[in-house]
Amino acid sequence: MNPALVMNEPLQAENRSSLIQGMPPCPICGSKTYRDRTWDGKYTKTLGWRCEKGSLRHFLEAKAARIKRQLAENPWLLPPAPGYPGVRRDELMTWEECQAAYRQLHFEADDIPVV
Ligand SMILES: [Zn+2]
Repeated sequence: MNPALVMNEPLQAENRSSLIQGMPPCPICGSKTYRDRTWDGKYTKTLGWRCEKGSLRHFLEAKAARIKRQLAENPWLLPPAPGYPGVRRDELMTWEECQAAYRQLHFEADDIPVV
């Protein structure tokens, strides 16, 4: 028998069993997961699921961890170019941050009207 075929056999068996069981285990706790189509990623095309133990919480934790990792890998909204420093995603202010900064300013100087 061809040795390459023998070496591939356990891998193929693993693939078959994961297909039978359906979803991969929960990346947070390792428990079984089951499909939840309402949480399928519309844009990312990732499958929605719930964990047997952690339910939707583990799905959202895993999703948040993936988004954080992607942000760390690609922090640039506009990457730097020669003569341009670029804009990092974490440099942008949200409206909540703007409002908090405005309130802080008002707190320090009484003459600015509150919106
Ligand atoms: Zn879990």
